Amino acid sequence: MPKGNHHGRTKTRAYTAGYHRIYAKIFKNLVTASLGNYMLDSDYLSSEHKNLTLSEQTDGSRYLTFTINAKPHLVALKFDNSSASNKLYITCPYCQKQRQSLYAIKYAYACRQCIGLHYASQSERPQDRLMRRIRKLRKELWGCDWPDVNNMFENIYYWSKPKWMRWKIFEQKRNKITELEKKYWPMAVARMKTSFGENFIL
Ligand SMILES: [Zn+2]
Repeated sequence: MPKGNHHGRTKTRAYTAGYHRIYAKIFKNLVTASLGNYMLDSDYLSSEHKNLTLSEQTDGSRYLTFTINAKPHLVALKFDNSSASNKLYITCPYCQKQRQSLYAIKYAYACRQCIGLHYASQSERPQDRLMRRIRKLRKELWGCDWPDVNNMFENIYYWSKPKWMRWKIFEQKRNKITELEKKYWPMAVARMKTSFGENFIL
């Protein structure tokens, strides 16, 4: 897994690069095929990712069951009736959204978005998450072009009120950021101490 700052959405490409993908279109034959067990033809997939059972609900809609790590992973076959192409989609077992493809991860199939979210929340330290939130709130209040808006060492206390904003609202927003920064600093100091050891000077 790459190190550094992780932002779920923009970095999903990096998370998904190593995974094999299955596309909705490979299941086209299963829309009319008889129900039962099937196996995907792939050298990249584990046998648990290859074996599936095709079933039908009472309303006639079809779904696939992959048994991975002893748990059933349900993938529905869905047609997009809103478009003329009537394209086939598969649903993600995690978010249930219609997708054109799913990724084979260690113990599951999941869509790109679910993989990204999963890894972002796992790899991002609480301190990084807090820093990202503080920077976001600062930008909402002072704008992206404000000098030092990203600089965590700068104290926001002396930053001026945007002209159009009421004092009361401004103070509420600024206090919220100050409150988060008070939480942020002990975490940051603890981490700097472990990285710099004896040489650390606050
Ligand atoms: Zn998903």
